[in-house]
This record gives sequence, structure tokens and C-alpha cells, in this order.
Amino acid sequence: MSSGIRSLEGKQALVLGLGVHGGGEGVARYLVEHEARVTVTDLRSPEKLASALQSLHGLPIEYVLGEHRARDVLAADFIVRNPAVPRESPWLRLARENGVPVLMEMNLFWAACPAPITAITGSKGKSTTTAWLGHVLRLARPDTVVAGNLRVSALDALPAIGPDTPVVLELSSWQLESFAETRIGPHISCVTNLAPDHLNRYRDMADYADAKREIYRYQRDEDVAVFNHDDPVVRTFVSDCPAQVRWFGADDHGGLGGVLTARDLVLRTPETTRPLLRLDELALAGRHNALNAAAVATLAAANNVPPEQIAEGLRTFAGLPDRMELVAEIDGVHYINDTTSTVPASTMAALAGVEGRVLLIAGGASKRVSFGELADLLCRRVSRLVLLDGSATPELQTEVYKRCPALETSLHRDLQSAVEEAHDAARPGDTVLFSPACASFGMFDNEFQRGEMFRQSVRRLLGSS
Ligand code: ADP
Repeated sequence: MSSGIRSLEGKQALVLGLGVHGGGEGVARYLVEHEARVTVTDLRSPEKLASALQSLHGLPIEYVLGEHRARDVLAADFIVRNPAVPRESPWLRLARENGVPVLMEMNLFWAACPAPITAITGSKGKSTTTAWLGHVLRLARPDTVVAGNLRVSALDALPAIGPDTPVVLELSSWQLESFAETRIGPHISCVTNLAPDHLNRYRDMADYADAKREIYRYQRDEDVAVFNHDDPVVRTFVSDCPAQVRWFGADDHGGLGGVLTARDLVLRTPETTRPLLRLDELALAGRHNALNAAAVATLAAANNVPPEQIAEGLRTFAGLPDRMELVAEIDGVHYINDTTSTVPASTMAALAGVEGRVLLIAGGASKRVSFGELADLLCRRVSRLVLLDGSATPELQTEVYKRCPALETSLHRDLQSAVEEAHDAARPGDTVLFSPACASFGMFDNEFQRGEMFRQSVRRLLGSS
């Protein structure tokens, strides 16, 4: 283990990037509690960081805001970098060149967590799979801890974790970058799928896939890795996986794990093969959620949960807000909030999961991924395309126009007017689907604020109808 985490007492720690999602805050608080001397530096101004600063108020922390300084990097015994600070940051290079260990929140968590960890990554379905597995485990273990990339610091959960507490973590590819530092993997890992994402930050798909492979790279042979057999790239991960592989998918993979048939979710364990439940018993719509359920079943079985409990937990999970969330039905029209769709693949999954006429609200900031396939599906499935302005929107518009120039399309600079237009054009039985396929920066703070704005816009319609 890195010398930086063995003992924190009296060490000079530099938190690089406080951020606004809770992670940096939790790290700073944890370091102070463990008697490190803490400096927090962030390029943002105190005004932008107000809520994080407020929550740390009164703690002995030195702040360097609006800039990073070489002298803070060089004075540190170790750095804890925010996942949003890119690998190539010159400040991280300076640290490495001078032998200053660069850690992340997950390294601190791993070093202190007394329980085995189940960790989940993938391009899409991470939060759903993580929360769903947490729900299944909680039926027998109400103390199950679910944390990770969930807008709260995993470190805050540590006091509640004993040696046999079930722990489920959602990990972004950025958080996985921390594994190379300590070279310790999870007890059970899962890759839900791989679709083009974050190509503004990774060189190409191979580089992005490599980042995801970190989740199993440091596992041992008694550990378990759960892979999506339907995904042509994830399927190849078996070739260099040191752990025992379990599969989930709609292909009958022939191995241990969850298999979707046309009607059922079947679970194959070393002891038996049995249908767990019918797919129409799931509360979550869409084939992608059936696949998420298959992943959850496989992970739960690897956590030694009995099949009856797995089936009950699969059946009773109601889903997370901001993912295919039914906000309201107004005059026979369904308004669905799928703001966490930040890439074309998840909007394609969303379109496949709704029936009838669809009015799609999409567009936003670019992650440098291609819109070709989405535009093909969109032309077949969407009756009206309401676009939100953003750096990716012209490209989406062009791809759609090339394929179906007659599709009614409009462009809006604010979400309220986009929702109003969809409302005016919708007929009873239609669905207004807000599934942007793009990132939120520019017009919104993050995708969750974007989702809240959509909910508010729909509520305003309720007030006026
Ligand atoms: P993540 O945490 O990986 O971003 P979420 O579970 O939050 O994934 O879901 C984000 C978006 O992706 C939502 O639009 C959701 O409907 C969609 N989605 C969820 N699971 C899948 C899946 N297995 N394949 C494709 N899209 C998915």
C-alpha cells in the first residue's frame, strides 16, 4: 500500500480540486479527522464553491482558491486529486516528477474499509445496477452500504462499515484511475457495458476501455468478475481477467450467471439453473433494464444471496429518479425525465423502452461521440425533435437532417420553452421524452440540476393546464 495512506497523522495533504459534488468535501473532512494537515486548492472562486466551503466551515483547512501553486504541490507528503482533475494535469506531472504520491478518495476508502467490496462500472447502468443490488442486499442486511460515484463521499459511509457489512460501490472510469496507485481490486467487480463516452477526455475507445479494465486488473483468483456477455468489447475482458468470471446477457453464454430469455430471467449457479422471475414482473421498463436486472442477479448470487431474495428484490425495485422517471401524465401525455442520458447509447435505450408516438427533447454539450446510429433510430421512432442549444446540438441536428429532412425540428435556448413546445404539439397517448444524449455543461450545473429544471417545467404546465 502507498506510504501516503498508512498513517495520515501529521502528514501534509493537498486536496487538488474541491469540486461541487461532495467528494472533495468528504476527503478534506476525513483527512482533518485523521489529523493530517490539510490544504485544499481549486481553480474555482470561493463564490462557486460556497456550499462546499460552508460545510467545511470551522475546520483547520488552508485554502488556495482561484489557482493552483507549485509550492503547495511540492510541500505535500501526498496529494488527493479530485476525479475531475485530468490524468495529464501539469500539477499531477509535477507531483510525480518530485515523488509526491497522488491518491484519490477511493484509495483512502479502500485502505480503511474492513469489508469485502462489490464495485460496479460501465458506460451506462452503473447507478441503476448499484442501487438495485443495494436494494436486493438490504432485504436481508438493512445495514448494506451503497456509495461511490453517487454525489456523496464514500468516506462518510466508513463509520457504518463492519467486517461483514455488504458494501456496493459505483465507480466512474475516472475513479478507477486510483487503482493503479495501490494495485488492489474489489472482491467482486462488474462492467455493465461499454459505449462511446468521455471521448473528450480519453484518446479513443481503446483508451477508454482500458480505463474500465482497471476494475478487474488487480483482482485475485478467488475474486469474481461479472461481465456483460452481449457487449462485444466487455466480452473480451475475460482474456486477461485474473478473477473467476460470471456472465450476464441475452445470449446464452453457457457460463454461470444471469440469462434473459424472451420471457424470463434465468440464473445459473454452481448448484442449479432456475428461472428467477418473468421479465414482465420487473417495475422498470425497457430491455436495458432487463439486462441491468440480469447483472444484479449475477452480482447478488456472487454475494451468496439466496434466489428467493434475489427475485423479491428484483421485483420490488422502483428505479431511481432522473432515469426514465415518469414526472407526470397531463391530458393523456406522459412526461419522462431521462436527464442522466448524456450519450447517444442511453437515449437509444430510452427510445427502445417507450411505446407509441414520441416527442424527444435532446441536445446539449459535446462529448465528441458520434450521433449517426442515434439519428437512424430517431428518424424511425420520433415524431418531433425539440432541440436544446449546446456545443453538440448542431451535429445532432445535421445527422438527423441528412436522414429525415421532413422531421419537425426546432431549437430552444431554454428548457421551459422546449417543454412548452412539446406540450403544445403532443396528443393524448404520446410521450414527451427528455433524454438529451449530450452532457449538461453550458446551460446547466450538472445533469441532475437539468433534471430538476425539467420537473419544474412540467409542473408549471400542470399549473397552467
Ligand atoms: P450511469 O450511472 O452509468 O450513468 P444510470 O443507471 O444512471 O447509468 O442511467 C443513465 C442513463 O442510461 C439513463 O438514461 C438510463 O435510462 C440509461 N441506462 C440505464 N441502464 C442502461 C443500460 N444497461 N444500457 C443503456 N442505457 C442504460
